[in-house]
Amino acid sequence: MSILVTGGCGFIGSHACVVLLDAGYDVVVLDNLCNSTREVVERVAQICGRAPIFVEGDIRDAILLESLFSEYEISAVMHFAGLKAVGESVAQPEKYYDNNVGGSRVLFAEMQAAEVKTLVFSSSATVYGDPASVPIAEDFPRSATNPYGDTKLQVEDILEGLYQQDSGWCIARLRYFNPVGAHTSGLIGEDPDGIPNNLMPFISQTAAGIRPVLSIFGGDYDTPDGTGVRDYIHVVDLVAGHLAALEYLDKNQQLLTVNLGTGQGVSVLEMVHAYERANQCNVPYQIVNRRPGDIAECWADTRLANQILGWQAIRTLDDMCRDTWRWQQSRKSK
Ligand code: NAD
Ligand code: UDP
Repeated sequence: MSILVTGGCGFIGSHACVVLLDAGYDVVVLDNLCNSTREVVERVAQICGRAPIFVEGDIRDAILLESLFSEYEISAVMHFAGLKAVGESVAQPEKYYDNNVGGSRVLFAEMQAAEVKTLVFSSSATVYGDPASVPIAEDFPRSATNPYGDTKLQVEDILEGLYQQDSGWCIARLRYFNPVGAHTSGLIGEDPDGIPNNLMPFISQTAAGIRPVLSIFGGDYDTPDGTGVRDYIHVVDLVAGHLAALEYLDKNQQLLTVNLGTGQGVSVLEMVHAYERANQCNVPYQIVNRRPGDIAECWADTRLANQILGWQAIRTLDDMCRDTWRWQQSRKSK
């Protein structure tokens, strides 16, 4: 039996391939390479000693999906394929609805037709909008502040609908907080195109001298040091949470919604200093205006994941910083 990993060449999907292959699963990757490269498959094979099957294609291609489900004995799907740039989603909302929502609909319809009804879906803490308090539990109200977030809300709702209609579905909606880090091999990691939007790749590129200075968006939030606070989670811990969810769904038929975070809030300044300390490097920064749409604080209540999945994040901030730097260094030498 194989697991179909959509978006398996991407940042999180590639790490999921590693955890699945290491756990003994066979893996089929479907990726259209719109934000990744085929080389990732070879790198995953280098880490694991065996390769996933790679199919270049789009989740919106129903005919391709139908043939995949008939060719391979797929028992479950981990669905990572999607576009994720918040700013771009504001500029081009239709592109995001078509790819993320439309693509998911096609995938779920083909899963249903093939009687493959076990799914782990990449949702996001963005579905909590601007939460009234922290830590954020799964039963907090949901809202979207941009089209990207709205696509996550919509897919969560589609999955709820599927489950209501047919309780044969086993679905985990995993709400990620801030995934960072890279595999310790330095072979796979986050590879943003152009100027990074996210903090961690920006810090790395600044430390490497690719960017002259990190702009810290806002020093006047109501937080201990005035900078924004987030729950950064190591990508290897995050994908371990996916494996735990898959194994849970194997025994329990249900619609599960869980946060994947560490439960610890870390400010931008704390992250900069942790990075400098862990890697003995220098990250020049300047504090600038707040970024529109940003919230002050966001971190997870992780009790449900601990209780239900028996999972918790174990990697430290130091691990996140060291592994990101190792990956950054390997990019430089490419
Ligand atoms: P990523 O861009 O690195 O990976 C996504 C992969 O999906 C890419 O390889 C891309 O080529 C592929 N893809 C996109 N659209 C596709 C399509 N229509 N058909 C086939 N392949 C397609 O992103 P990531 O950081 O690995 O994120 C994976 C998932 O997790 C996304 O759904 C994202 O929204 C979600 N998520 C990410 C974060 C984060 O901070 N990275 C946080 C919360 C949720
Ligand atoms: N941030 C920053 N400078 C950057 C990128 C991000 O100060 O160049 C801050 C941002 O304001 C937020 C935190 O870092 O407080 C995490 O931002 P990121 O975009 O990585 O994730 P988000 O939580 O916004 O999805």
